[in-house]
Amino acid sequence: MPLFTLVAGARPNFMKIAPLIHALQKKEAEGVSVHFRLVHTGQHYDKNMSGDFFEQLNIPAPNANLGGGGGTQAEQTAAIMVAFERELMDHHPDLVLVVGDVTSTLACSISAKKLQIDVAHVEAGIRSGDLSMPEEINRMVTDSITDHFFTTSEIANTNLRTAGVPEDRIHFVGNTMIDTLLAQQPRFTKPQGAPFDQLIPKEYFVVTLHRPANVDNEESLRELMEAILKGTAGLPVIFPVHPRTAKNLERLGISAPNLHLISPLGYLEFNHLVQHAKGIITDSGGVTEEASVMNVPCITLRDSTERAETIHLGTNELVGTDPKNLGPYLAKILKGNWKQYQGIPLWDGKTSERIVEILLNHYA
Ligand code: UDP
Repeated sequence: MPLFTLVAGARPNFMKIAPLIHALQKKEAEGVSVHFRLVHTGQHYDKNMSGDFFEQLNIPAPNANLGGGGGTQAEQTAAIMVAFERELMDHHPDLVLVVGDVTSTLACSISAKKLQIDVAHVEAGIRSGDLSMPEEINRMVTDSITDHFFTTSEIANTNLRTAGVPEDRIHFVGNTMIDTLLAQQPRFTKPQGAPFDQLIPKEYFVVTLHRPANVDNEESLRELMEAILKGTAGLPVIFPVHPRTAKNLERLGISAPNLHLISPLGYLEFNHLVQHAKGIITDSGGVTEEASVMNVPCITLRDSTERAETIHLGTNELVGTDPKNLGPYLAKILKGNWKQYQGIPLWDGKTSERIVEILLNHYA
């Protein structure tokens, strides 16, 4: 019986791994011979960045938690690699499946490949071309040692082909994060209490920021926040603050009657807010995908994106990190003058089933 080890470590991983686990559980229930272990690397460990997602997305308790959170990029990578190597030597899986582009993705794929265990990468092949982002390095290294490439877009397929990956290892399957979005949409929940009680649908903005280029420098963060407040015309701005951003934002002491700095929200609450927002201002990759599929105007405060399909076919616009750029885009949203979601191929809620089918054909 094949054993697959699935890895999740940080917030955006949990939405990507949940539907894969459900697809595997379904196969197990149908009597298909397959076994899996879920390993949490411990990269994110706060309740609102990890535990809550297990509950809301119905992810079973991990079989192992490597406790690899904290420290610098290298310290975290090393701690996860060492602990994951031990996990692999104890359990000998046939395959390690990693998702996305976080430190855990990189660390676990290296540990696996060095023990000559096959690696599957879900969300393979996407590239921003910006090596100042740790995520881009994680993507490149992981894809250089991956055996099965599961991709979200034709652009990713082309990137992999250009890098010389053989055609039979590239599987264009769609987006598991959208599997979760579509499965959970009926369960989205309006958050209770202030400031949410006062929100009028399509009359507020949602902000998320956590990329170093936006949040590590206090002055740029201040300018960005000022541009956001100026451009949103006094409408409520709901900003669930990522732990990475919290310290600098607190130090700035920015406040405005319409600015609501809150703790990170649960998935069901956050996406309820996104679904009914007038617009989203973000530097998150996953949020641009979700906003696109829900046809909500989205502004990305970055100079590059690895998800160009959200711009060509979705509702996302790449505005750059210069706060001066923001005003005209916000004005367009306020006027209701924004492009509509065109549909993105294979982002249909069935990606995880396709992945599990391909893996079972290969290993069972
Ligand atoms: N998200 C959430 N609560 C929040 C903010 C984001 O559940 O307060 C979800 C969001 O819906 C998406 C994921 O977190 O599914 C994105 O994670 P993040 O922005 O940390 O990572 P990125 O996509 O930038 O890698």
